[in-house]
This record gives sequence, structure tokens and C-alpha cells, in this order.
Amino acid sequence: MQTAEHISVENRCRICNESGDHEVFRIREMMFGTQDTFEYFQCRHCECLQISEIPANLSSYYPENYYSHKKIATKNKKWILTSALEKSLINTALFNTNYKLSSIARHFVSLPSYFFRARPTLLQRAGIRDYRARILDIGCGTQALWLQDLQRVGFVNLTGIDPFAKGDFSIGRINILRLDASELAHKTDQKFDVIALNHSLEHIPDQFGTLASINRLLSPDGTCIIRIPTISSMSWKIYGVDWVELDAPRHLYIHSKRSIRELARRAGLELFDTQYDTTAFEFYGSEQYRLNIPLTSPESLWANPESTVFTREQQLEFAERAEKANIDGTAGRACFFFRRTRRSDHPTGT
Ligand SMILES: [Zn+2]
Repeated sequence: MQTAEHISVENRCRICNESGDHEVFRIREMMFGTQDTFEYFQCRHCECLQISEIPANLSSYYPENYYSHKKIATKNKKWILTSALEKSLINTALFNTNYKLSSIARHFVSLPSYFFRARPTLLQRAGIRDYRARILDIGCGTQALWLQDLQRVGFVNLTGIDPFAKGDFSIGRINILRLDASELAHKTDQKFDVIALNHSLEHIPDQFGTLASINRLLSPDGTCIIRIPTISSMSWKIYGVDWVELDAPRHLYIHSKRSIRELARRAGLELFDTQYDTTAFEFYGSEQYRLNIPLTSPESLWANPESTVFTREQQLEFAERAEKANIDGTAGRACFFFRRTRRSDHPTGT
């Protein structure tokens, strides 16, 4: 494994409380390429990689051009008939209804891109039954992009929270609140059928408090979907400190499959499925860091596809590696599905 430094040091794991000699890594800030270096350690027990000390100036690493703060284009106007036909396809894909109409509609229209951005396979696995499902996005970003896609799909009970939001506001029927999960759990008795964290948990200092709050906010049959990078991946072994998913210092925790499952169990949440959803980004981004190319550099494939250092063949290979890693479970991006632990599952109360 490539590491700038490879020593052990006395640290206490903030996930499982294990103290002792954990392996230490020095990781560079490479999204903006400041090259500031941060110390992380990997717990010898639960294997969670975590920043040794949360920087006091962490907010300065989330500048205005940070991608979750970017504005998106407003929606296009469409013919009413086209929208109705698309809607029938969406109904069939999500709920297996409108089958007759959609069999005709598919001759004229295709499923719109916002449907795929809304990640329908996750919604299906979460057991969504209709458009009234109460959906909460924790760390939704200032534009709540995922919720906007869900709104266009047809969902009507949408809430987003983000402590970096500019205040409390609405986008159509989406309510966005400037809160973290603990603040929301204290403020309301409202329950949610789906609670999603789309690459936000790794940014949150209080990991146990967040999951315990999710337990309070989740309806009895609700599903919590946690999408995060995981250290239990082939890319960590291959790329080490150049792995793009580390994203120091913004990612405070990179969970192992074990550490996220055990932490959630302590918070009363039980893992019932894991899926993988990495993309070519994991591979070209890491290859770029090896070449000392920051993510937002003009030479970066992510920022400027026209002037990338990678050939078309290499880009296809990155996509193939991602597809294979998702199938064999070695991908660096995982999606963990949790539900509230049922009492009968733990008769001893442990
Ligand atoms: Zn640990």
C-alpha cells in the first residue's frame, strides 16, 4: 500500500472505543489540491479509518464552489402528453402499476434521466409503496438535488436537512431545514418511511448520535439507506492514501463493513442488505491523485473531460473495473440498508 508514512500511534477509536496502537496514515487534500496533509488512523479492531483530530477550520474546506453547493439548471418545459406518458412508465417501473398504458407509452417516450438520478433501485429495495412515502434526506446539500429528482418523479412528502443550508426554505413541496439529525429528532415527533444519507455520513462528526437520531426518526417499518465509501474495498488496498474516496479532510470517517454494521447495531439499527454503486470516478480519480492531478484541476477528467490525460480506452477500462467491482462486492462505494432492530431479534436485550 502506498503511504506517505506508516507508523502506529496511541489513539482511541471514536466508533468502537478501542485504544492502543492503530496504524496511522497521512492523507493530502486533493479535491482543490491545497496538498494540506491530515493524519488519519485505522482502528485495529473495527477497521474504521478516521481523522485523528477534526480540524477547527473544517468549514474552510467547503468553499462556495464545493459541488453540493452548486446550483442546477431549472427544469425544461414539456408537452403535457409527453409528461403523462413518462409518468406511466415511472409508475410501472416503481410500483408495477399502469402496465397497459406504459406498454403503449414506451413506443413514444423513454424513462427520463431524472428518474435514474433518483436511484429507483434503492427506493424499490426500501419498500416504497406509493408517492406519499415520507422521505428524509440527511445532508441534502444546499440545492437538495436528490429530493428535486424525487419531486419530479412524483413524490410529495419530501424533507431535507443540512446544517450548511442557507436557512429554512422550500423548493416546491420540498421542505429544507438548516438542522442536523440530532436537532431534527429533538424538534419533531414526525416519522419517516425512508431516511437516506447520500454520501453525507462520512462528513458528520457525531456518528453514533446521528444513527441514534435516525432510529428515533424512522417509522416502525421504515428503511435507512446509507451510501458511503468503504475502506473494505479493493481500491484502498491498491491506491492507499491516493484513493480518491478518502477526500481529506472532509471525510472524517471511512467505515469498514464491520464498523458501520456494529455502530448501527448499537444505535438500534439492523443491516439487512448491502449493494454496491461505484463508478469509473473511483478509478480515474485515484489514478489522477497518483499523478498529482487534483480533482478540480483543468487536466482532471472530472472537471474538464475535454483535456483529460486518459485515452478513450483507459476510460472504458475504468468503467469496466467499476462494473466488475460492483458485482463482486469489492467496490469502494457501498449502499447499506438498515431497519430498526426488532425486539424479537434480540431476546436477551443485547
Ligand atoms: Zn474501532
